Amino acid sequence: MNRQSRKQQRRTKLWFALVCVIAIAAFLLIRYENSIAQAPEEAANPQASTGVTASPSQTPQNTDEPAAATEAPSDEPAETDKPAATAKPKPTDDEDGMAVIAEPDSVTALVNKQNKLPENYEPADLVYPDVLFTFNEKIDKRKMRKEAATALEEMFDGAKSDGIHLAGVSAYRSHATQKSLFERYVKKDGLEKAKTYSAFPGTSEHETGLAIDVSGSDGKCAASDCFGGTPEAVWLADHADEYGFIIRYPDGKEDITGYKYEPWHLRYVGKDISSEIAEQGITLEEYFNAVPVNN
Ligand SMILES: [Zn+2]
Repeated sequence: MNRQSRKQQRRTKLWFALVCVIAIAAFLLIRYENSIAQAPEEAANPQASTGVTASPSQTPQNTDEPAAATEAPSDEPAETDKPAATAKPKPTDDEDGMAVIAEPDSVTALVNKQNKLPENYEPADLVYPDVLFTFNEKIDKRKMRKEAATALEEMFDGAKSDGIHLAGVSAYRSHATQKSLFERYVKKDGLEKAKTYSAFPGTSEHETGLAIDVSGSDGKCAASDCFGGTPEAVWLADHADEYGFIIRYPDGKEDITGYKYEPWHLRYVGKDISSEIAEQGITLEEYFNAVPVNN
């Protein structure tokens, strides 16, 4: 080999080395560019790499969030709907501006022109009290609820031992009877006038089976103003509370009870309440701190 051919050989090697360096550089550059191009893909698709462990926690998170978001709104309306639904019956049932009594079976139920019994309420334990009535038939108006009937028998016995002879005039009255009675009065006198002397259906205490109109055994002045001041009326005013009864519509309390004085109308409330009401000289409305009932 001559000197020139050696030079030639060296030059070729250099070129080869240079091409190799360029090729390697190009290869690295392409790889680098590829890795940059892949990076967004990996980020977009977390499941591809470490996303495999992250994805389970990520997917539940994603499903939890919408789930929680949909559960919360669906729960909340449900909860607010429920109280609204249970609270509604009172205002909706009372198209006449009256509240519907929640516990009509309670012996302390406050029935008046603002609080009415549920539609078609019927006491479950009506019996015939074993006392004298001003009529002989075994009909509805002779009935009272058991507890009130027993108390009535004791009261009539107590009166008898004081020389006072009482008789029942009218006790229970069904909702249907009160309704047809009231409708008859409305036809005759119009709604406004009928309301002044007859109870709106559902608002008569006689529908509870806890109230009774009482007179002397001769039946004179039965459920009439002239009963006031008779020995029977005086005895009832003095002693009814000892048996769990109250004079429901006392004299001078019309603005509170909504009814004029009815010395014959007795209402059973139980001895605890009757004695407290008698002691304080108040009405059932005042006992319950209820709003005064205006006609
Ligand atoms: Zn009455």
